[in-house]
Amino acid sequence: MAPSRRGTAVAGLLAAGAMVITGCVAAPEPAEPGVIPTTSPISGETRTTTTATALTPLLVTARGPVVPFTGSDGKVIVTYELALENTTPLTLTPTKVEVLAPSGAVLQTLDQAQAAAALAQPTKRGGVQQLTEAQTATLYVTLEFGARPDVPDRLDNRITVSAPGLPAGTATAGPVPVTVSPFPPPVLGPPLEPGTRYVAADSCCDSPRHRRAPLPIDNRVWLAQRFAVDWEQLDDRNRTVTGENPADPADYTIYGKRTIAAADGTVVHVENGLPDQKPGALPATTSPAQADGNSVVIDIGGGLHMLYAHMQNGSIVVNEGQRVTRGEQLGLVGNSGNTSAPHLHFHVMDGPSPLTSEGVPYTIDSFATTGEITSTAAFDELENTTRPLPVRPLPGDGRHRDQMPLDRVLVTFS
Ligand SMILES: [Zn+2]
Repeated sequence: MAPSRRGTAVAGLLAAGAMVITGCVAAPEPAEPGVIPTTSPISGETRTTTTATALTPLLVTARGPVVPFTGSDGKVIVTYELALENTTPLTLTPTKVEVLAPSGAVLQTLDQAQAAAALAQPTKRGGVQQLTEAQTATLYVTLEFGARPDVPDRLDNRITVSAPGLPAGTATAGPVPVTVSPFPPPVLGPPLEPGTRYVAADSCCDSPRHRRAPLPIDNRVWLAQRFAVDWEQLDDRNRTVTGENPADPADYTIYGKRTIAAADGTVVHVENGLPDQKPGALPATTSPAQADGNSVVIDIGGGLHMLYAHMQNGSIVVNEGQRVTRGEQLGLVGNSGNTSAPHLHFHVMDGPSPLTSEGVPYTIDSFATTGEITSTAAFDELENTTRPLPVRPLPGDGRHRDQMPLDRVLVTFS
C-alpha cells in the first residue's frame, strides 16, 4: 500500500504547491485535465498517466548522453542515435523529424528525404524510406551550433510518421529527450608523425563506415567506432598509392609512417604477429579478435582509451603495462586485420575494449588543413589506384586549434 500512499502524497504536494504559487495571482491555474501522477506498486516506476492516450505506432528510444565537440568546420557538433521500432503491422513512412530545445524552440527539422538519408539498417546504412511490420532502424541525428554555450542540456526529438492504416493518417512519437553531457572532450595531440596531406577518411559525421557501425555484443548495442578516423595519406600528386603497384601495401603513401601516442598514458593491450593483407579488398574472413590487426590500446586516464589499429607486423615497440608519453612512437602504419588499404584506424572510447565500449569525441590541439577530398565515392573509387584524387579547398583552411578533423579533410601535422 505504501506506493499508493506515496503517489497520493505527491499529488497532494503538487496541489498544495499550486495553491501557494497561484495564491497571489488573479485566477488559479487549473491542473492539466486528465493528468494522474501515479507510481507502479510492482516496479516503483513513477508515471504521469493521462486519460487521453495516443496511439504511438513508432517507438523511439534515445541513446546517450551525447558529448558535444568542435569540428574542423569551426562548429560545435552534437551527434547521436535514436532507435526506432515499428510496433504495428502497418508500413510507416517517417515524414518529419524535429529536434527541440527545452524551451520548445525548434532547432532542426528534417523533411522526408532528409529523414530517410539519416535512417539506417544493418545492410543499408542510409536511405531507409519505410519501416514495415515490426522493423527496427537507427536514426542518426547531427546538429551544429555556433558555440558550446548555445547547446541546451537536453534535446527533445519528435518523429512524425504516415501510414495508410492510421486513423489520422499520421502519428507523432515523442518528445524523446536526449541528455547533453557536460563531459569535456579530451584534447589530444596528433596520432601520426609530422607530415602533410593526411586524409581523415570516414571521420564524423555523414560517412557511414564508422559513424553508423553499431555492433551487438553481449546482448547490447555498442558504437565504439562512432568517432573513428581511418588515416590515409596523399602524395604531392594527391595519390594514395605513391608506387606503381596498388596490390603492394608498401607502395601506399602512408605505409610505414610512424604512429605516435596522442596523449600520455599506459599501454593496456598489444596485439601483434598478424601479416599485412593484400590491398584492394577486405579479407574473406577475419575474426572479431583479429579485426584490428596489429594494434595498441592506451589508457589515457579518466576512463578513456585510445585504439591504434592495422599496424605492420613486428613494428609495435611498446609493451602492455608500459607508460608512454605524448609523441612517443608506438609502431608503423600497415595493413593488418580487417582492412582493404594501408591506414591507421584511430579512435577514443570509454573503456579498454575496442568492441564493447562507446566511442567518445576528442579534439586535436594543433593541426592545419589544406582542403578536402570531394566525396567518399571519389575516394572509394580511387583509393586503390595510382590515379590522383579530386581535392578542393575549404573556407577554413589553415591552422586549427582544439578541433576534430571532419570527414575527408586533408591534415598537416607538424
Ligand atoms: Zn576504421
